[in-house]
Amino acid sequence: MTVSISELLEKVPTKLLIGGKWVDSSSDETFDVENPATGEVIATLASANSDDAKAALDAACDVQDDWAQTSPRDRAELLRRGFELVHERAEEFAALMTLEMGKPLAESRGEVTYGAEYLRWFSEETVRDYGRSLTAPEGTLRMITRRKPVGPCLLITPWNFPLAMATRKIAPAIAAGCVMVVKPAKLTPLTTQYFAQTMIDAGVPAGVINVVAGSSASAISEPLMADSRLRKVSFTGSTPVGKTLLKAAADNVLRTSMELGGNAPFIVFEDADIDQAVEGAMGAKMRNIGEACTAANRFIVHESVAEEFGRKFAEKIAALNVGNGLDETVTCGPLVEQKALDNITSLVDDAVDKGATVLTGGKALDKDGYFYAPTVLSDVPRSARVAQEEIFGPVAPILTFKDEAEAIRIANDTEYGLASYVFTENSDRLWRLSDGLEFGLMGFNAGVISNAAAPFGGVKQSGMGCEGGAEGLDEYTSVQYLALRDPYA
Ligand code: NAD
Repeated sequence: MTVSISELLEKVPTKLLIGGKWVDSSSDETFDVENPATGEVIATLASANSDDAKAALDAACDVQDDWAQTSPRDRAELLRRGFELVHERAEEFAALMTLEMGKPLAESRGEVTYGAEYLRWFSEETVRDYGRSLTAPEGTLRMITRRKPVGPCLLITPWNFPLAMATRKIAPAIAAGCVMVVKPAKLTPLTTQYFAQTMIDAGVPAGVINVVAGSSASAISEPLMADSRLRKVSFTGSTPVGKTLLKAAADNVLRTSMELGGNAPFIVFEDADIDQAVEGAMGAKMRNIGEACTAANRFIVHESVAEEFGRKFAEKIAALNVGNGLDETVTCGPLVEQKALDNITSLVDDAVDKGATVLTGGKALDKDGYFYAPTVLSDVPRSARVAQEEIFGPVAPILTFKDEAEAIRIANDTEYGLASYVFTENSDRLWRLSDGLEFGLMGFNAGVISNAAAPFGGVKQSGMGCEGGAEGLDEYTSVQYLALRDPYA
């Protein structure tokens, strides 16, 4: 790595971005950001309170009208400059993400590519400002539809993909002509702070992007969601917090996009190419240390191939090099905090108590930081918590099934409906499974499926709305219908 960490940390703004200026919190409160690989404090940031959040919304609302009137081409060019600058600073963004979140550098570089792609994709979508024109069936009206920016947005992001979860919201909001207040996760705010500075360097006008990190999320979100000037909240995070925000959104009938938790099934049929399935499983499970909403949570494997799949998967998992992600040889980093480590430990202990067998891993590692050994469990009963809850860590439970109908039944037996994966060489099965599985995303013989050009969104308690794709822009616009008297009527 070519980046000096101390020089990089000096470049990252530590204050609140309000109206184009980095300012202190009005209460002078601060909070610390840790490196989860060492437990060391790497930065101290201004912590926004309710007054700061209000000031950020004031600054955003002041420029909403002017911003909405900028040309699509101007907004497209801004996003394109942002895309280019993120790539110029790719090594800095990668190092920052590894420092504050823990993922290995190679994966952080992957997130720079993925996260920047939302800037490029929405820069291209900005100018596709399509509406429709039609004649009323009765011939009385000429009807036109157009899309308008939904208005000031609150964008709340999680800690697991600090760049991509921010660009996936900020880029379409810019494309649509919306102003925004961004609230990053307190565990990983540095990447968002640096990204906001990067967008300032790219030329974003003052007030369009405001960033309020803080130690109390509700102190920021509650006053904003109660303010009738706010028109939308876009949230990525856990289902319980999503439900709280949906209830708060009801009072002002806010537009909402909710990207919530997952419990992805990874189904391996007896006709699958097992080596390909193991490769896919490594991506679907171990990307981001298992801390992804799309992470394979339950490996549902046909009983005739479960032993072979488990053995080959456990061999690959056991070969991972666990350590500080800044070391280029490391392939699996720490969990993000002590609470996550405690949760994984109790999930695995519960599964073992209920009869699961540990094929590899199964314990926390005796190191500084929050490390858990990458783990594969076989013979996991469906009653084990690990088969029901979102794991969010490097643990792969294997369950077995006898036939296709049972596989579908087990897979759907969850309140979540985000990602799913199916490995089979039978193309007829692909169609039956896409009919039968209740999930917003499906990977067929593919373990890594997120893409800026694709609509990403869950069903059931995994949320509502989509990010990315053409659909991602719709989330930031409202449709206006213009009715013109037909001259011949
Ligand atoms: P989280 O719900 O704890 O926090 C997410 C964000 O919400 C953070 O910024 C947090 O500060 C904020 N927040 C917390 N309580 C709040 C409140 N009462 N009011 C307003 N904001 C509040 O989730 P997390 O631990 O940061 O992220 C992990 C979760 O996110 C997992 O469940 C994961 O599946 C989900 N996730 C979903 C997607 C998706 O696209 N569906 C993507 C990434 C992560």
